Amino acid sequence: MIAFGPVPSRRLGRSLGINNIPPKVCTYSCVYCQVGKTTRMQVDRMPFYDPEAVCRDVRTQIAAARRKGEAIDYLTLVPDGEPTLDVNLGNEIELLKSLGLKIAVITNGALAWRKDVRADLAKADWSFIDQLIRKKQLIKMKYKGHRFYMRVISQQRSSGGISPPER
Ligand code: SF4
Repeated sequence: MIAFGPVPSRRLGRSLGINNIPPKVCTYSCVYCQVGKTTRMQVDRMPFYDPEAVCRDVRTQIAAARRKGEAIDYLTLVPDGEPTLDVNLGNEIELLKSLGLKIAVITNGALAWRKDVRADLAKADWSFIDQLIRKKQLIKMKYKGHRFYMRVISQQRSSGGISPPER
């Protein structure tokens, strides 16, 4: 199932979820992960599903929700893994925008050092990482040939933190 819900979300109101990658493909394998052990750990982006098929499935789910009178505040890319591993993420966001709803991406930020990932996230209406980048609360680091971003905590405190998404 690619699209599910809408379900209540603390941050996003009524959120229609989108699995843009198969379950448990992730950049991490956190011991506390609520969706179980990572079965495929990877850092390279790749295609998973056909973006047109993802959009079609979401459109069908929206229609079903509307028939039941259910409100939708956000279409949220929130798979059981890391959504930015999907090399078609930006393309999917553009297709989903044609459905007239706001788009959110829930990411662990592991690939935020990549320019193409940041460009994809910037197409969404809300993502935690994009918020940090816009507020200049991420600084670029390089250590032993590895590039990564680090969050600037003191600046976050002085500026009041990350804005909740608009509904
Ligand atoms: S989905 Fe999130 S919590 Fe689970 S292993 Fe990946 S980063 Fe960790």
